[in-house]
Amino acid sequence: MEQAQMRTWAEIDLNALAHNYRALRSNLEPGCRFVGVVKANAYGHGAIPVAKKLEELGAEYLAVACLDEAVELREAGIHAPILILGGTPGQFAAELLRYDITQTVFDLSTAKEYSAAAQKADKLLKVHIKADTGMGRLGFFGKDRMEEIKASCALPGLDCEGLFTHFADADGSEEYTMGQFTDFLDLRAALAKEGVTFKINHCAASAAMLHYPCTHLDMVRPGIALYGHYPDEGSVGLDGPGLIPVMTLKTRVAAVRTLPAGSCISYGRTHVLGRESRLAVLPVGYADGLHRGLSNRMEVAFPSGRAPVVGWVCMDLCMADVTDLPEVQAGDVAEVFGKILPVEEKSDALDTISYECLTSVSRRVPRVYGNGEG
Ligand SMILES: *Cc1c(COP(=O)(O)O)cnc(C)c1O
Repeated sequence: MEQAQMRTWAEIDLNALAHNYRALRSNLEPGCRFVGVVKANAYGHGAIPVAKKLEELGAEYLAVACLDEAVELREAGIHAPILILGGTPGQFAAELLRYDITQTVFDLSTAKEYSAAAQKADKLLKVHIKADTGMGRLGFFGKDRMEEIKASCALPGLDCEGLFTHFADADGSEEYTMGQFTDFLDLRAALAKEGVTFKINHCAASAAMLHYPCTHLDMVRPGIALYGHYPDEGSVGLDGPGLIPVMTLKTRVAAVRTLPAGSCISYGRTHVLGRESRLAVLPVGYADGLHRGLSNRMEVAFPSGRAPVVGWVCMDLCMADVTDLPEVQAGDVAEVFGKILPVEEKSDALDTISYECLTSVSRRVPRVYGNGEG
């Protein structure tokens, strides 16, 4: 699509992605592997171009949430190993084998189904064993976990390449995180004592990677940091070079209208003009991923300055008050978030996290790939 035709688009700066990759990589010991987490369409940035770039940069592994996401990458010609972090029902084991995908295993009965399918296909299915050390989500846990993991690893047809866990509060409590980490190391040691060892032991996503280098082990799994966002305030700058946001959401002014004092703006008349005002109508709304909760509590940025969004955000449109930016006219481009307006301003206002704002940018919004120019 021609840029001129686009009402709202997301610019994806692949040079920023490369910068973030290198910044994060520079903190790793030699030999530590790097999984680029590209689940959820690469946090909204577009899974295929991002995965291709990460592969080119030298990421040893890619991670996704589910089988469909993995198959999408394989069909796009991605050859790097791909780890599915979530579950895949046993009946789809043949797909995992056909596409050479690494599957997370977190229960013995599914492991048995994988084993049977792998034997039938006369292949080895690569798996990573997941332990729950305090996240309360997926993973072997409880008093039987040793026996269940040992039994899983003993199944024919499975190549148990990895052992991993996930931290619940790596951006919060050091004590809790170190408790989880110790539990993981204890489990690894206990399994090793029984002869069960793994080539790749891993536990650090972005927050642990930045806060606790001791948790890097054989591989790290950053997602949000790759896209240029710190998982928490306390981790800002811990990478060294500084991360650069990869996505910039932009919109093109559809119309500029001068309305008299007393005019009501948008549904519900939550904003009434106190003076004669110039309103820029922006073709971006909640169906594009601009959360309606940002109504009356966000700004957009023009080259000449910031303008507040007034009234409810509609499905396809919203209005910015540009009375104090007299040069703004129809056809001008405004940044919704990105390099000028950090997405964290939006996520903070919504009492959520950057992850949610990024992954909310909808399918209707074209992704435009570039190298940071313009
Ligand atoms: C999403 C996810 C990651 C990446 O997390 P970030 O906080 O984005 O770095 C790593 N590991 C697992 C298991 C995940 O689900």
